[in-house]
Amino acid sequence: MKVPLLDLNAQYLPVMSEIKAELDKVFSTHQYILGTAVKEFEEDMQMYLQVKHAIGCASGTDALQLALMALGIAAGDEVITTPFTFFATASAIHRVGATPIFVDIDSRTYNLNPDLLEKAITPRTKAIMPVHLFGQPANMNSIAEIAAKHQLKIIEDNAQGIGAKYDGAFAGTIGDIGTLSFFPSKNLGAMGDGGMVLTNDDELALRLKQLRVHGENPKYFHKWVGLNSRLDSLQAAALKIKLRQLDKWSAQRRENAKIYHELLTDLPEINLPYIDPKALTIYNQFTITCRDRDGLMAHLQKNDIGCAIYYPLSLHLQECFAHLGGKKGDFPVCEDLSQKVLSLPIYSELTREQIEYVCQKIKEYFTK
Ligand SMILES: *Cc1c(COP(=O)(O)O)cnc(C)c1O
Repeated sequence: MKVPLLDLNAQYLPVMSEIKAELDKVFSTHQYILGTAVKEFEEDMQMYLQVKHAIGCASGTDALQLALMALGIAAGDEVITTPFTFFATASAIHRVGATPIFVDIDSRTYNLNPDLLEKAITPRTKAIMPVHLFGQPANMNSIAEIAAKHQLKIIEDNAQGIGAKYDGAFAGTIGDIGTLSFFPSKNLGAMGDGGMVLTNDDELALRLKQLRVHGENPKYFHKWVGLNSRLDSLQAAALKIKLRQLDKWSAQRRENAKIYHELLTDLPEINLPYIDPKALTIYNQFTITCRDRDGLMAHLQKNDIGCAIYYPLSLHLQECFAHLGGKKGDFPVCEDLSQKVLSLPIYSELTREQIEYVCQKIKEYFTK
């Protein structure tokens, strides 16, 4: 048996003909830049996430940069974030000239540890940027409380958490601005790059819409130096069709997680994902921890099981951030987890037999 980490073909086949018809509509109107397709998808997303403004842009990375720019965050400012995330979270902060300030994570949820936030706040701090890692929202109640107390903005990096909820509210719609990524491996993946910015604030929405078209308003008059960062119309057309399946896909991922929990519960060598009782996760990844992670990974790969390490090196130890002075031992929880995490296949179309096979091979590794 073969179990890939992700099987996009299995996801696309059932919706392929609908997507092609929608793409044809774009071809027939030639509205390739911010036309009907983008507008319709943005409206569908506003409905789905119960948010006032959903603004498409070129990628999840750009969405983060646009969010920072809209809030006026620039050189001299500090933004607090997690060192245990995809590189784009911190690189967006760097790119606007601000400084990423890392804070260690909660060992159970892998998300920002709110108890450590206040110690990291300085007079330069402008915002907190939590990441809803692997599809599980960070503790937004505590983060929002601290942000309000210190008058800080919140930008939620929700690239991995579309449709997830914290205490009943959609992730990405709780802070001042939330972002999404439609990178193909995200739960709602495009057929290329794509991203989105979410906000309930009218003024920020207006600024974000201007910033994605070079900061112009009206055309050829530039209030700010913005980006050229639009959600591609063809991607929007495909995403509009796929969005209709998203709830079903997320439910299937949660079902798959349940089966893993059933089958692996008595295995002391590994820890299964812990989900905060206030969080509804969408399992962008199903990430276990294991002391002998590299051995287990090699064993699974030998048996044609796809698995991956997200993420092998904490951001404060990345070469490009050496000037920030981060060193080994700064964030022990994050550093320890980067040696132990392993993400297993969790995609919606997995069969029970495939999950059983993965679990059987995991058990086999520890009993041999
Ligand atoms: C994927 C991802 C991004 C970046 O999204 P792109 O669309 O690939 O630019 C940002 N943050 C996190 C946490 C991600 O997982």
